[in-house]
Amino acid sequence: MNGSAPVIVWFRDDLRLCDHPALHAGARAGMEANRPLICLYIVDEESAGLRRLGAAARWWLAQSLRALDGELSSFGQRLILRRGSAPETLAALVAETGAALVYWNRRYDAAGNAVDQRAIDALKARGVAGGTFPGNLLIEPDRLTAKATGPIRVFTPFWRRVLAAGDPRHPLAKPVRLPPPLPIAGEEVRDLNLEPTTPDWSGGLRAAWTPGERTARARLASFLDGCVRGYAANRDRPDIKATSFLSAHLRFGEISPVEVFHAARLAADTRRAPVRDIDKFLSEIGWREFSGHLLHHWPDMATRNLQSRFDAFPWRNDPPALKAWQRGRTGYPLVDAGMRQLWQTGWMHNRVRMVAASFLVKHLLIDWRAGEQWFWDTLVDADAANNPASWQWVAGCGADAAPYFRIFNPVLQGEKFDPKGDYVRTFVPELADLPDTFIHKPWLAPSAILAQANVALGENYPAPIVEHDAARRRALAAFAAIKA
Ligand SMILES: Cc1cc2nc3c(=O)[nH]c(=O)nc-3n(C[C@H](O)[C@H](O)[C@H](O)COP(=O)(O)OP(=O)(O)OC[C@H]3O[C@@H](n4cnc5c(N)ncnc54)[C@H](O)[C@@H]3O)c2cc1C
Repeated sequence: MNGSAPVIVWFRDDLRLCDHPALHAGARAGMEANRPLICLYIVDEESAGLRRLGAAARWWLAQSLRALDGELSSFGQRLILRRGSAPETLAALVAETGAALVYWNRRYDAAGNAVDQRAIDALKARGVAGGTFPGNLLIEPDRLTAKATGPIRVFTPFWRRVLAAGDPRHPLAKPVRLPPPLPIAGEEVRDLNLEPTTPDWSGGLRAAWTPGERTARARLASFLDGCVRGYAANRDRPDIKATSFLSAHLRFGEISPVEVFHAARLAADTRRAPVRDIDKFLSEIGWREFSGHLLHHWPDMATRNLQSRFDAFPWRNDPPALKAWQRGRTGYPLVDAGMRQLWQTGWMHNRVRMVAASFLVKHLLIDWRAGEQWFWDTLVDADAANNPASWQWVAGCGADAAPYFRIFNPVLQGEKFDPKGDYVRTFVPELADLPDTFIHKPWLAPSAILAQANVALGENYPAPIVEHDAARRRALAAFAAIKA
């Protein structure tokens, strides 16, 4: 093997320098044998089976690639961007540079795995070793699968097993030095067709987010120093900033779940944060883990009901209702606020995601896959595991799902979790002057109060597109049909 042959580190959903096993190994191999290092990202929209990113996630990816390039530049390194089928692109880069080692962190979805296997084969055919390392889960799925019973389908025993397996590996520090880069060509982020141009609708996303490892780490630190206190009680309140806002950072691997896990544990152990709140926060990281494992075992989770009895569910085809939901014009203020928060900022509070998703599936009887696809396109944290798993959970057809007959009442949910209506007022400004009593049910307000608040139902804000009790009865009847 040529002593100065470069090492390639292939970045994927792990756009960071800290706790990056492949980069760690690549840096060491380079420093020890005096090899240059190529830090590579491939935009692969050609390999079969990979789900094309939605528009909001594409925007995030573009910013995150720039941020990673910025971090690398402080080590005298740079991120090389290429486009094409990953196995072919890697093989071509090896031919171009004479690289002798290629390292990456594993992914656990079947389509991604298949691409990686083809990459390994393509490299082997050229006599190049591909080294792979643990990826963005706490525990690799095959380590947890009970041989006799198969994958665990219920969250509580799943999480118990993860915790019983012992703390995840210790996070790796950021490399102290990196080998020098190789002067090779790469594309510019702006040419990758990731960002909207005509029109550029990303202003709301830019105002809300700063992608990149630096922000991810700062967010984690400030969360653990601050609003993690009270997280268990407040995490359901969309009107206060009580959660970590780490989802998109975790989605793109700007911070690793292993690092989040250890930092949270340390905060509890050193009494910086209450154990109860940390445990609750970690169990949410556990739901992320659970979803990742489900996707590993059920690769078509985004399109196929995990419970096959739902294959016969009588979904309605109702494009105007779907559009009203997407645009935040259902007439239910909490649902509309959530859908508009999503449209404006690329994110929605978890409680409101549950209520809005339930409204689509149960009040409107529209197939959960239509909602999943809309979230996929509009969420900055759109995740191939969390999104379909959560949609199936809400729809009642998932693993360990909410029972179908539990149907959220959007008015009561609003009154409970947004008691003063601050969240609704932020995203549905046309209702801002309504008194708290009617903010979640404007159709019940006397006409004088509506007039005083400048609300004209059916004109500047819709009347409810379905009536709650009738919708509830219809949903239960539809469910009874498949149960029978
Ligand atoms: C219909 C629906 C769709 C969803 N789609 C996504 C998605 O595409 N991507 C995504 O990351 N999350 C999704 N979630 C889960 C959850 O809403 C978000 O992870 C959470 O709101 C992100 O905010 P946070 O980072 O402040 O969360 P925190 O409360 O601070 O939680 C910490 C982390 O735990 C993970 N997490 C929290 N709740 C869940 C959950 N229910 N399932 C899986 N992981 C969770 C996330 O990585 C999150 O960043 C969805 C939930 C629903 C109901």
